[in-house]
Amino acid sequence: MVRRARRNTPSAAGGARLHRYVTGPTQGTNTVDLTFDDAQLAFRDELRGWLREHGPGGALGPEPDDEDESFAWRREWQRTLHEGGWAGVHWPKEVGGRGATLSETAIFFEELGRAGAPLPADVLGLLLAGPTLMVWGDSAQKERLLPTILSADETWCQGFSEPDAGSDFAALKTRAVPDPDKPGDWLVSGQKVWTSGAQYAKWCMLVARTDPDSGTPDGPPKHQGLTYFVLDMEAEGVDVRPLVQITGSPEFNEIFLNDVKIPGSAVVGGVGNGWKVALTTLMNERAGLAFFLQVRLRQQLDELVAIAQRNGSADDPIVADRLADLHVRTEALRLMAWKGLTAIEQYGQPGPEGSLTKWLWSETNQLLVQLAVDVVGADALTDGDPWAYALLRARGNTIEGGTTEIQKNIVAERVLGLPRSR
Ligand SMILES: Cc1cc2nc3c(=O)[nH]c(=O)nc-3n(C[C@H](O)[C@H](O)[C@H](O)COP(=O)(O)OP(=O)(O)OC[C@H]3O[C@@H](n4cnc5c(N)ncnc54)[C@H](O)[C@@H]3O)c2cc1C
Repeated sequence: MVRRARRNTPSAAGGARLHRYVTGPTQGTNTVDLTFDDAQLAFRDELRGWLREHGPGGALGPEPDDEDESFAWRREWQRTLHEGGWAGVHWPKEVGGRGATLSETAIFFEELGRAGAPLPADVLGLLLAGPTLMVWGDSAQKERLLPTILSADETWCQGFSEPDAGSDFAALKTRAVPDPDKPGDWLVSGQKVWTSGAQYAKWCMLVARTDPDSGTPDGPPKHQGLTYFVLDMEAEGVDVRPLVQITGSPEFNEIFLNDVKIPGSAVVGGVGNGWKVALTTLMNERAGLAFFLQVRLRQQLDELVAIAQRNGSADDPIVADRLADLHVRTEALRLMAWKGLTAIEQYGQPGPEGSLTKWLWSETNQLLVQLAVDVVGADALTDGDPWAYALLRARGNTIEGGTTEIQKNIVAERVLGLPRSR
């Protein structure tokens, strides 16, 4: 088993800067203006000051290796962010957020990455469940569920994928039937899989089929007849079984549901409307994260360049060529992330170009950790070395959050306007 050793400190490669970490856009029509205005600079400086005091190098100690301890540490980190008013940075003020603009949110994630700070424990709650509830939840749901997301007192998991429904998520088979003993309530049975963080979660964004005819030859299409529920993970009949990844860490799980009672008040967005509600969740999946990930990628690359310069492998033209390719990819990713943000500012929602960012980031991250084996040497394959963990964890990058093939389909059909594959 490869012990979980991660990088949470900024790159040690002080001399190997090939770029500026942070620039920023102001709104433009067809161009991205990569300069900050005064308000954005003030926001960034305030955050930098706060991170110096509370983040890595300040009050935040090192992340433990153990999976459970690491989660508890990141929960504490989220509480610290919450106390400082930084947990729901992009959430509106009326629900306890900071009310930051899109650009400020991007700055927040870039600065978090730049400081080497971890993501908060409940990324799924903050980025997916919270924003989905803000759009589709009723007032009782918002009042009950949003505050504990911010404070990390209750965390969330995403129960979408099933053994026979991943890329084609509308094919899901988990069934919800009316509870014969309690009209309005539901009984849910089925199986979810690859559910990250389910072992810690209090709530699950669960999508189940409430119209048994949907997806049958004579019934309505399979994406109709789905309903989105908030599942209480402590309810009777919920069985969470960890799945150990190639890294040796059980980051995700199987969830078995056996006649689990779900109250009617836990339906989000109305019975039969689950597809639309789930699309809101999926559209929020990568909000802001691209900025965090591209900075982390840059830090790892800087570190690798510095190692290659120190141990002489940078003199090998093939290694130098691969490093240069990674530099170009990483810079393209940074610009693409800001371009995507400009598109949201212009059109009000993320465009399909987000698929390009996911595709480029996951592929580049895999190329980088593979090159690390050649540059760093045997240490990069040794238990406990952060490069070894990174190498193995990166395998999942081209699958999680939508596989590369699915991203390519989206780019082909919706960005390039090519004919649909099916
Ligand atoms: C680390 C990790 C964490 C995850 N966390 C969660 C989570 O928290 N919650 C959750 O619900 N899910 C989670 N997932 C599941 C993830 O969303 C699915 O694995 C992913 O959507 C792919 O589905 P699948 O595994 O069923 O593969 P499949 O959809 O069966 O795909 C198998 C292969 O076929 C290809 N393929 C499928 N359809 C097409 C097509 N139309 N055109 C071209 N190629 C195609 C795929 O690209 C892939 O190579 C996680 C996965 C990973 C790796």
